[in-house]
Amino acid sequence: MGAQQVAERFTELYGARPQGVWAAPGRVNLIGEHTDYNDGFVMPFALPQQAVAAVSRRDDGLLRLHSADMAGGVVELRLDALAPGGDPAWTAYPAGVVWALREAGHPVTGADIHLSSTVPTGAGLSSSAALEVVIALALRDLYGLDLARWQLARLCQRAENVYVGAPTGIMDQTAAACCEPGHALFLDTRDLSQRQIPFDLAAEGLRLLVVDTQVEHAHSGGEYGKRRAGCEKGAALLGVDALRDIARADLDAALARLGEEEEVRRLVRHVVTEDERVERTVTLLRAGTPRAIGPILTEGHASLRDDFRISCPELDLVVDTALARGALGARMTGGGFGGSAVVLTEATGVPSLTESLETAFAAAGFKTPRVFEAVPSTGARRLV
Ligand code: ADP
Ligand code: MG
Repeated sequence: MGAQQVAERFTELYGARPQGVWAAPGRVNLIGEHTDYNDGFVMPFALPQQAVAAVSRRDDGLLRLHSADMAGGVVELRLDALAPGGDPAWTAYPAGVVWALREAGHPVTGADIHLSSTVPTGAGLSSSAALEVVIALALRDLYGLDLARWQLARLCQRAENVYVGAPTGIMDQTAAACCEPGHALFLDTRDLSQRQIPFDLAAEGLRLLVVDTQVEHAHSGGEYGKRRAGCEKGAALLGVDALRDIARADLDAALARLGEEEEVRRLVRHVVTEDERVERTVTLLRAGTPRAIGPILTEGHASLRDDFRISCPELDLVVDTALARGALGARMTGGGFGGSAVVLTEATGVPSLTESLETAFAAAGFKTPRVFEAVPSTGARRLV
């Protein structure tokens, strides 16, 4: 959706032109899954798909919200009535951002907002963070708030955790706020330090396909909570603050100490090996050998499927089919139980891979997957 179109719709809705138009992208996590709430490493990059928001400030304590992608008209909320947990609708995301900014002492006095997004929802591509970050950036600029991008991400995470009530890590919001084109973002979720790692697929004759299985990860909340609690239990049993503190070299000894706790052992093994996979991926990309990350992605999938147990038949079918057809590597990405997988392939392999995936899904009686090429793109920015 172009900036101009969003601005025009805003003008129709609110009777005046917006003061600006901003965008924030969805993301794909290249590697580093379920490490973010263990103080570990993640490596997302921004998608070209993005949320675009036209915004003006108001000074009368009102927040007016409209989404081109949702049924219903303009929703009007009073800022002094915003409270966590009370809104089950999509409006909780932007309202949560306003709430979090005000809670942190920033003098936001209202806004008119119209938005439209090309990030598919519920596909594990983080449409929610795109939505939060685009609003946060717009309000930062309109109110002249002194907030760095990583701080915006923090506030958006708080909006999602506390106001919406979804227990997510910091990766999605940081990716939407901080990614740069042609790069993946190596993020240490403990101290939020970050490095841009070259990931220019086109220059190498490579492509990264995102395969949206169209399986909604609707019931993943409870499973996510269980995995998270299991990881915390593992850290407690091993006497560390977070599983991040178990070095790869000490993993076998740590696993042996977990005794009868078979389920915790599997979770710990995934998290510790996954952190190491991120570090190996960074090393290979910085060395200019992106093809070599293929097997690491595939190892990551096996770990999520067998140890963390959050894959599903559709995601496994993507990975198995892609590898059988010569892909360099493939893995599920995102929270699991549906959503999307990523496939690293030579550029020349794209047509046959896409066809094979569609054929395999049809043969299994699954919905046709949506396949698109993910080009590492820009993080949030002002458009107009
Ligand atoms: P995702 O993996 O896409 O982030 P979530 O469940 O975390 O999935 O967030 C999806 C929710 O975000 C939607 O149900 C809706 O409430 C909100 N959302 C995302 N995109 C839009 C949009 N364009 N307009 C309104 N709400 C949106
Ligand atoms: Mg989300």
